Amino acid sequence: MPSVPPGPSTAARRRAARILARLKLRYPEIGTALDYVNPWQLLVATVLSAQTTDDTINRITPVLFNRYPTPFDMAEANPEDVESIVFSSGFYRQKTKSVIALSKALVDHFQGVVPNDLEALVTLPGVGRKTASVVLAEAFHKPAIAVDTHVRRVSRRLDLTTQTDPVKIERELRALYPRREWPTISMRFIQFGRDICDARRPLCGECELNRICRWPGKTV
Ligand code: SF4
Repeated sequence: MPSVPPGPSTAARRRAARILARLKLRYPEIGTALDYVNPWQLLVATVLSAQTTDDTINRITPVLFNRYPTPFDMAEANPEDVESIVFSSGFYRQKTKSVIALSKALVDHFQGVVPNDLEALVTLPGVGRKTASVVLAEAFHKPAIAVDTHVRRVSRRLDLTTQTDPVKIERELRALYPRREWPTISMRFIQFGRDICDARRPLCGECELNRICRWPGKTV
């Protein structure tokens, strides 16, 4: 019988809890900056947000959702029409294909309702584990941790993981934190990565985690 790998030590959990406690002080309330009114809108907005800013998407989606208010409308959309609306988000052809295809799949297999479990969400075209986790955590308040480039960098610098693969990082963060914390971990790490622990120029002198941080590259 294969042996079960040991979970994180008590000391590692405590350290992880301290890190999150500091980030909660910095960001008492946190959520996605994408505007949405239902899970489908968040799903579409998240797919569109790849490689661009949330502000750009928030300018696009009111027009898009006004023209196509439900997955049923989007499933029958003219691709050229959608492309003209999402053009400024970049990769607009692929993104158009994805949002139409995922809407069709919702209509065909889920009665037009966004499923609230990871395995079902990742069957939708253009929806990976990261996007699915964002929707689960934000729209359904389900325990999920989305690992994007910021979560990956911050987790590694803070020595919460040594992994590079997002799925493995997600697994290690899940092991370190209780389930009730999972839904807001990503957003706090993402915002901290944007505001302080920047990829190229981390603001270590202003960082409340400086004394906890063991990253050899830190600047102070
Ligand atoms: S000390 Fe620097 S590298 Fe460490 S978490 Fe803070 S900003 Fe990031």
